[in-house]
Amino acid sequence: MRGLLAILGGIVSWTLRALGWTAATALVLIGILFTGWLVLRPASPSPAARAPPTSLPEPYIGETYASRVGDPAPPAVSADGNCERPGRFSAAARANAQSLTTTVWAPFGPEEIGWEIYVPLIAQEISTRCAPGEPGFARALAAWQRRKGARADGMMSPGAFEIMKQAWHRRRPFSRIRPEDCPPPPADGALATAAALESYGRPMRLRPGALAAYRRMTAAAHAEAPEIFRQPDALKIFSAYRDPEADAARCLSDGNCDGVRRTYCSAHRTGMALDIHVGMAPGGNPASTADFNRLAQSRSPAYRWMVRNASRFGFVNYPFEPWHWEWTGEPI
Ligand SMILES: [Zn+2]
Repeated sequence: MRGLLAILGGIVSWTLRALGWTAATALVLIGILFTGWLVLRPASPSPAARAPPTSLPEPYIGETYASRVGDPAPPAVSADGNCERPGRFSAAARANAQSLTTTVWAPFGPEEIGWEIYVPLIAQEISTRCAPGEPGFARALAAWQRRKGARADGMMSPGAFEIMKQAWHRRRPFSRIRPEDCPPPPADGALATAAALESYGRPMRLRPGALAAYRRMTAAAHAEAPEIFRQPDALKIFSAYRDPEADAARCLSDGNCDGVRRTYCSAHRTGMALDIHVGMAPGGNPASTADFNRLAQSRSPAYRWMVRNASRFGFVNYPFEPWHWEWTGEPI
């Protein structure tokens, strides 16, 4: 130690002699400034903060998305051998099979990946039972595109979807009205109450015509597709008429809504809108808009039956919410 101090002292006295007091003072000042910078410089960012930001919410990433859905994916090949027949639309079919799970788009605002959620609605719209990656599906899509005056390439795209979305919206009487024309809620006593077994024992009210149509529809489902009811809550009502004032107050207090204005003027104020149980993903819930939850719902027998049959009873779906159905049997 003593030797080290002697060496340091030697260096200092040699520096003083060699450079003189002015230069030595400058060196000391530089040393002080450098030490100050070391202490005060901003902390370097953590590896996580340096990583490029990802716009994908967690359920999308890697295997997690598929593994959270629960229900198995529908078969890639349909029972109808005609659907597989190659031909003019083979390339479009390959493109559809690819985009089905990979295309990045935002058909309802938030970003989504793939279009499998909407396959039941699309297949119904273009009148096919073929699977989305089969040439028969592309053939049916091309025929539909031709009827709509669009490019008949048989490929599912945001543009093709937009035309369908507009058609689906036009079938919902409520979505046609302007926000400033928010309809008055039904008069007291104008609503009927669903039975306890239809509504988890909670008092769900809706227009008598809508309730009668709902009952005809569930009776048909029991007769035509009993497998739906292996899920004991299938097609039960979990929301119907919502008093606009109470709904807006709830929205203000818990914030769990689409905004007070939209909540106040919701289709549920008409007594013609129903939220019904069409399944859910493990960890999801019957009304969760998380994509893994909606994908599970789109694969459920209940939703698939509803998409094909609900219009017979006057019900149309809001495509972003597989559980939300509106009765069209009366003017709003
Ligand atoms: Zn709803």
